[in-house]
Amino acid sequence: MILAERNNDRLALVSSELSGIGRKLADEKGGSLIALLLGGSGTKDLAKGLIALGADKVLAAESDILEGYNNAAYTEVIDSAVGETDPAIFLLGCTSAGRDLGPRIAFRRGMSYANDCSELSLEEGKLAAVRSVYGGNALSYVRSRTDKAMTSIRMKAFPPADIEEGRTGELGEIEVTIEAGALKTSFIETRQVEAEGVRLEDAEYVVSGGRGLGGPENFEQLAKLAKVLKAAVGASRAAVDAGWVPTHMQVGQTGKIVSPTLYIAVGISGAMQHMVGAGPSKNILAINTDPDAPIFQRARYGIVGDYRKVIPALTEKLAKLLES
Ligand SMILES: Cc1cc2nc3c(=O)[nH]c(=O)nc-3n(C[C@H](O)[C@H](O)[C@H](O)COP(=O)(O)OP(=O)(O)OC[C@H]3O[C@@H](n4cnc5c(N)ncnc54)[C@H](O)[C@@H]3O)c2cc1C
Repeated sequence: MILAERNNDRLALVSSELSGIGRKLADEKGGSLIALLLGGSGTKDLAKGLIALGADKVLAAESDILEGYNNAAYTEVIDSAVGETDPAIFLLGCTSAGRDLGPRIAFRRGMSYANDCSELSLEEGKLAAVRSVYGGNALSYVRSRTDKAMTSIRMKAFPPADIEEGRTGELGEIEVTIEAGALKTSFIETRQVEAEGVRLEDAEYVVSGGRGLGGPENFEQLAKLAKVLKAAVGASRAAVDAGWVPTHMQVGQTGKIVSPTLYIAVGISGAMQHMVGAGPSKNILAINTDPDAPIFQRARYGIVGDYRKVIPALTEKLAKLLES
């Protein structure tokens, strides 16, 4: 069973990633794949799309009370669906909702639980997982000791499922009987951050700046490089905490996890908490004055130097190269 998620009027990308790995595990186990989707109006229609992604059965819970994420309401609905279906494996995304819901459901159902897994397999019929620990500096291999297991999957670690138009499956509905008055919290609103250019999470290239930039005005140089590369601009928490750039630009443990083809870290030391977010990048280029900065241990390419000289030269060279 997987917990799919909505992204406004679309299925979120994680739904497709969950469908892909969920289908694979269901086939290996000789079982079927059930997808669960919760939300406000339009959820039932969106849920149908999960069949084309590989689900054999879809359960949709559509109710005003599920419009916007509320952990008490979501926990009730998911817990009762898991209780009735009794899946051997339950997967959700390591998203902000998934991280919140996972331990609650696992505890209620007495299932083993591993968070933020980047590989999943079956070993002697039990779910085994690989997860990164110590800020991405080590990998931990875990295997469920119970027959029923739950994990949350790392975003972008699993390939999205192929869409198979015309695939058939069963559509089911979950009746939501929760009274708003019985919940201790209620969802108020979602505020969309107005961001220009490429979204950090989707970017093919990311240029990130840290404390080494020395001030907010110097992010302008990164913006010029980003424009040439069609990259998104990110930042370390030190730069965000200093008020140089807004919070939504933060990469790391308490920020965003990115996995671009190239991550350019400028004036960033490479603290463990930053690398949790930058580590999944396929290549890292570090630009730093300190040859002993930890970021160089994780970087495929490194330039030891002052960014004030390196960035304008790099921007000019890349602009010429890309022009030709
Ligand atoms: C619970 C917790 C959660 C955290 N979450 C996050 C998170 O999500 N994201 C995050 O980033 N951090 C996070 N941190 C903070 C993290 O530990 C580091 O403090 C932070 O990442 C440091 O940011 P930095 O690399 O920009 O600054 P610094 O560590 O100060 O590094 C600045 C670097 O710039 C270099 N430099 C200086 N001048 C120049 C120059 N002219 N040209 C080139 N290089 C230069 C220096 O050599 C140095 O390596 C968290 C910490 C805690 C405790």
